[in-house]
Amino acid sequence: MTDGSEAKRRFVVTVDDPGGLIQEISTLQLVADFFGEEGAPASFFVIPRGEGGWQLDRQEEWLAAAQKAEQQGHDCQLHGLDHWRYEFGPYPAFIFAMGGEDTGERLRLAREESGHLWRRDLYVEKLETAIGIFENAFGRRPQVLRTGALSQTPELYDAVADVGMRYVSNMIVNPRGWEYIGDRYETDVDWDAGVPPRPYYLTEDVINLPMISEYAWKMTPEKIEPHLDLALDDLRRVYEADGVFVLVCHVQEVGADHPYSREVLHRLLEVAREQYEVTFMNMRELIAEIESGELPVLEYEPRITEGGYYDGD
Ligand SMILES: [Zn+2]
Repeated sequence: MTDGSEAKRRFVVTVDDPGGLIQEISTLQLVADFFGEEGAPASFFVIPRGEGGWQLDRQEEWLAAAQKAEQQGHDCQLHGLDHWRYEFGPYPAFIFAMGGEDTGERLRLAREESGHLWRRDLYVEKLETAIGIFENAFGRRPQVLRTGALSQTPELYDAVADVGMRYVSNMIVNPRGWEYIGDRYETDVDWDAGVPPRPYYLTEDVINLPMISEYAWKMTPEKIEPHLDLALDDLRRVYEADGVFVLVCHVQEVGADHPYSREVLHRLLEVAREQYEVTFMNMRELIAEIESGELPVLEYEPRITEGGYYDGD
């Protein structure tokens, strides 16, 4: 830095799927304790409703565990409504590809099944329901939305503004992590030029806090080194670009019986802490820095992304 001061390197852990999808309280507690011991506060993206009539604001025991996690320094944000079948549009191509390579055909089937529901007014209804349940449960509104499997159409972001939310975390900087999940290590997939690795205005009204990638999904011992290499390469590139490292991982993976996801993440966090001297923070704290003006947000400009809305191209 020319002014002699070191840039602040922000690192935000986010954990998807607790609540309506992964209902086990012990899994949430294990993951909260893991990141607590790492000194890395996490934002849990919580699903308000799920199978068996599960609903967040009626789950006293679950909420007590979530509140204990918040006392440890973590926070809770919103992960869609039901996490079910193209709730807010189709999935990004790299997520469709987890079910097989013919992503165009998968998009066609998704449209056939749910395309008539991909409307701004219906998104507003779903978001209001989700926010209402969240507010009943926590006594406050969520600040950030992430949709299940990053289901999205452009109308979603108008609906987000309609319900008075300002932040989403709904796009991926480096889809290469999903190639690795599918054992495609020889891929030439790289960073999405349409997703800057830092907070930016996605529309005139909505700020995106993009995730860099997922490195710890369905881990086996053989996958640890290549996945860690990708994570460390991204870590270096994010800070070279003066960005914010938002990690995405999944509660069912980090909280699995086997230790391999935790091993990758432990080693990543150790390098972040010791070599990069990062400042760990959750989404609530990141947003406080944005709102105080400490962390500037890139202005709106039309961006063409491959890591978000997928229309078959
Ligand atoms: Zn999810």
